Amino acid sequence: MLPGEKKEWFKKIPAVDRLLDMPSLAGLLPRYPRSLVLKAVHQVLDEIRSEIKAGEGLEDPTGLNMERVSEKVGEKVEFLNRPSLKPVVNATGIVVHTNLGRSLLAEGVLQKFRPLAGGYSNLEFDLNRGVRGSRYIHVEGVLKEITGAEAAMVVNNNAAAVLLCLDTLAKGREVIVSRGQLVEIGGSFRIPDVMKRSGAKMVEVGTTNKTHPDDYEQAIGPDTGLLLRVHQSNFQIVGFTEQVDTPALVNLGRRHGIPVMEDLGSGCFVDFSKYNLLKEPTVQDVVSQGVDIVTFSGDKMLGGPQAGIILGRNDLIDGLRKNQLTRALRIDKLTLLALEETLRIYRDEKAAVREIPTLRMILQSPGSLKVKARRLFRLVGTVDKENFTFDLAEGDSKVGGGALPLLSMPTFLLALSPGRLSAHAMESWLRAHDPPIIARVEKERVLLDVRTIQDRELETVAHAIQALAAYGSKMQPTL
Ligand SMILES: *Cc1c(COP(=O)(O)O)cnc(C)c1O
Repeated sequence: MLPGEKKEWFKKIPAVDRLLDMPSLAGLLPRYPRSLVLKAVHQVLDEIRSEIKAGEGLEDPTGLNMERVSEKVGEKVEFLNRPSLKPVVNATGIVVHTNLGRSLLAEGVLQKFRPLAGGYSNLEFDLNRGVRGSRYIHVEGVLKEITGAEAAMVVNNNAAAVLLCLDTLAKGREVIVSRGQLVEIGGSFRIPDVMKRSGAKMVEVGTTNKTHPDDYEQAIGPDTGLLLRVHQSNFQIVGFTEQVDTPALVNLGRRHGIPVMEDLGSGCFVDFSKYNLLKEPTVQDVVSQGVDIVTFSGDKMLGGPQAGIILGRNDLIDGLRKNQLTRALRIDKLTLLALEETLRIYRDEKAAVREIPTLRMILQSPGSLKVKARRLFRLVGTVDKENFTFDLAEGDSKVGGGALPLLSMPTFLLALSPGRLSAHAMESWLRAHDPPIIARVEKERVLLDVRTIQDRELETVAHAIQALAAYGSKMQPTL
């Protein structure tokens, strides 16, 4: 484009006022805030200016047509008005996927939201006595009932629970922990750092692979405030290893009159070994072994909302309640509602494994996964094989969320093998889809694991794959 031509194009850029007077744009104003429409107009005009400057895209004389520009503004307004947080389809097979929101709430829990969220509640009001009450009582009873703990309390998440416990029980004192348990969870939560924050002094004992009761015993001194056990969560040391188990540590704590705390990470109430999965200590096990304080997440294997659950001795929990920090870490009423309703389901374990999506997805049988995968395969039907081919495949899913890192659960996948479309192009197209479909790429194939795809989402995923094929057919031979 010659400089003179550019000048001509710049002159043709419509004025903001003229654009806003166009009937099609005036139609946007009752539906969207004026500020948003104005922002869209400015952004579209800026884009046109950059295109002219770069000498691109305006060979088409209708490119600056008022109708076309106002159409672009309409699209831009819609784009700017989209919510940022939105549902996605989890086709990764990772059940407790922290980046995708961890646990899905049970249907029965969701139904309780509307009346509570849209109305007042007895959150901190004692209806019997007509005086101020405690928000924590709404879950304390059911937690005690399920786990056998003496007392219970809840905070924002498990990281907060650990921080609060250390701050309350060991500020300015020593906390003894095994070198094999100094875990980092998801980059932002590291046991040594949380310890520092709480003002407790960490005393590391043992080695990376082996820690003996003697190691703790020798480290115990007049300043020892707490013996801490931390679930290794997302890693495991194999081979020549030894950790002091909970009963042995409890025994040691009792002999020296020092409380013992266990950060279980992803606590669970269900013994998975009953369902032929790996044995994980349940919360009930740890409580019955006499640990003084136990903490775990609400939204990992428990399958509830984000929360940190703390169980333990009455006097210690009482100390937590009185800590000023508790106010800053306190749980929101909607979370409390979701937690209470999820916990209530656990009174009947059969109901829990049927109704709590996290448990249901973990315990899906290979047979039902196969049926689901076949259904997805059939729903996609026949598509143009030039772009990609797809087939059923066997694979493995993971629990995620730092729970059972060594457990691979056999599953069924829909595998897309590249043709004209590369695996990378297919993965990013699916991610840009509405709703986004999050898949994994492995060995140049896009894998869609049906374990974490909900039944109601199967048609959406099938239509997306059909649309992906149609998109591929419009593209040039290589992408
Ligand atoms: C996941 C985890 C945490 C953090 O829990 P959040 O609920 O994510 O805050 C702390 N400790 C351990 C051992 C964990 O596995």
